[in-house]
Amino acid sequence: MDSEPIVGIDLGTTNSEVAILSGGKPEVVREDGDAMVPSCVGLDEAGHIIVGRRARNQAAVAPERTVVSIKRLMGSGERVPMGAETYSPQEISAFILKELKERAARALGRDVRKAVITVPAYFTDAQRQATREAGGIAGLEVVRIINEPTAAALSYEGQGSGGNRRILVYDLGGGTFDVSVVAIEEGVVEVLASTGDNRLGGDDFDALVAKRLTAQVETGLGIEGAAADRLLQARLRRAAEQAKMDLSTQPFVRVEEDHVGSVGGEAKHLSCELNRGDFEQDIDEMLARTMRSVTTALNDADVRPSQLDRILLVGGSTRIPRITQLLAERLGQEPHGEVDPDLCVALGAAVQAGIEMGHDMHSVLVDITPYTFGTSAVGELYGMPYEYQFIPIIRRNTKLPATRTEAFATVTEFQEEVEIKVYQGEDPDALKNVEIGSFRFTGLNQQREAYEQGLLFSYHLDLDGLLKVHAVERATGRELRGVVENAMERASEEALAASRERIETLWGEEDAIPAGSTGEELEEAAGDPGMSDEFQDTLRRARAALDSAPAEDREEMIELIRDLRYALREECAEAAAAVKQQLDEILFYLE
Ligand code: AMP
Repeated sequence: MDSEPIVGIDLGTTNSEVAILSGGKPEVVREDGDAMVPSCVGLDEAGHIIVGRRARNQAAVAPERTVVSIKRLMGSGERVPMGAETYSPQEISAFILKELKERAARALGRDVRKAVITVPAYFTDAQRQATREAGGIAGLEVVRIINEPTAAALSYEGQGSGGNRRILVYDLGGGTFDVSVVAIEEGVVEVLASTGDNRLGGDDFDALVAKRLTAQVETGLGIEGAAADRLLQARLRRAAEQAKMDLSTQPFVRVEEDHVGSVGGEAKHLSCELNRGDFEQDIDEMLARTMRSVTTALNDADVRPSQLDRILLVGGSTRIPRITQLLAERLGQEPHGEVDPDLCVALGAAVQAGIEMGHDMHSVLVDITPYTFGTSAVGELYGMPYEYQFIPIIRRNTKLPATRTEAFATVTEFQEEVEIKVYQGEDPDALKNVEIGSFRFTGLNQQREAYEQGLLFSYHLDLDGLLKVHAVERATGRELRGVVENAMERASEEALAASRERIETLWGEEDAIPAGSTGEELEEAAGDPGMSDEFQDTLRRARAALDSAPAEDREEMIELIRDLRYALREECAEAAAAVKQQLDEILFYLE
């Protein structure tokens, strides 16, 4: 079948991946052996857009022109600075999507214009809408948004596991946490329940470790103001993340950071040991929160732990051994490792893309809404009269798409318009839930009969989890004109077109550094005149160590060599010193 390709995209907080169908099977696109594109966007020193590893590499040396973890701000309406300008989260995400789109196009040998994109199950309406808009800005039609745990289950099903199963998907990434209970019966993947926290993830763990390191710098080394030093904080965050990851396989790690400040003109270096026990204690309360969500999801799905056939782990943070331990204690079985926690979401998105393209993927997806949608009305709260009682309309764990209709009476006879506020959440106090928009309907019929019969409101939640509200006058059957007053961040078509153009222009600018780098080029760099001996020495040693370096270091070293060469050419001493230090650290282990 030569239908237009649709790709599957996992747009993650920390890393993103794109998967395509190859011979009817989902496959993550790799370049130079690497499937993961760090979800980082930056401007290089010449003001050109860089995405992925290069942007991540410069995050520590140039935080003011690098954006990380943008997913956390999706749907917030906040803008982020990058260089001299500010960008919406949709625009920053669009750069990442554009990079993935081009990767997929290179792999397929043809243009890619359509995608299935995953979002955390717990993403709100505004966050889903923002994700859709980011796709549009990147020149991608988002044919479907699916929930990450659902995608994980689809990738599992795609492996041809067969049979009827109950699966618990525990998904802890860089910025969000979800847990879902999924039933697979005769190829139908049905999410029974889903819950979580869209502000909890590995970034929070990094922040706790960075806090320990900052305390060491301030009290241990006597350097004041370390907590407010942005550049130092960016370095400590990176060191903290590395230490956290190492603690997943080692009981303790040593953190070494040179030149973290000076006292009385003397340069100070950080060198301290962190152990797994302390780290586990730091994150204990957060992990306990995730375990409470596991219980909630099982209760909502009406599934007992003993009825679970599998526990699937998704997201990089699930490599923390304490998580496996807690799940095994709570559920009486060990999670399974056969599905790659980093890649299964993108693979599942590609399975869904295959279904959208009309391929027989041996599975059908039935998704649910992980939260309740409703409105507010004058009523009562905890037995007291209250103006904003939450009235649930579409309850959480309802299958998608879902439509519910409710009768509504206007307050007065000659009322000309009515306003409906829509919230999502579970609190009986509407004001404690997330307001996703307010819909105003005008032109109400002024006849007594119309007043007496009232209005019917239909709430329609589509397959992507996005909500639409319609109102019909019962007496006349007439549909009222509805305006979305403040649906968060629903950008206008013009605003989206302007963003598209802006991103296109920045993207189109010629890259200051050639994308591919050869050995000769690097050799040549090492011989650049005008470089101080120290830098030349590092470059020469890096070149010599390249061939025997493990693949994962090699990639990074090539980037660093390029960055160092560039920093020297631009005479940016601070950046050059920081990049040199990173290279020296790698060489320390290799030589
Ligand atoms: P994701 O959003 O699924 O890409 O997950 C990214 C998060 O996983 C980041 O916070 C990483 O620091 C974290 N992570 C990746 N590998 C490990 C590891 N080995 N141990 C602990 N956390 C990890």
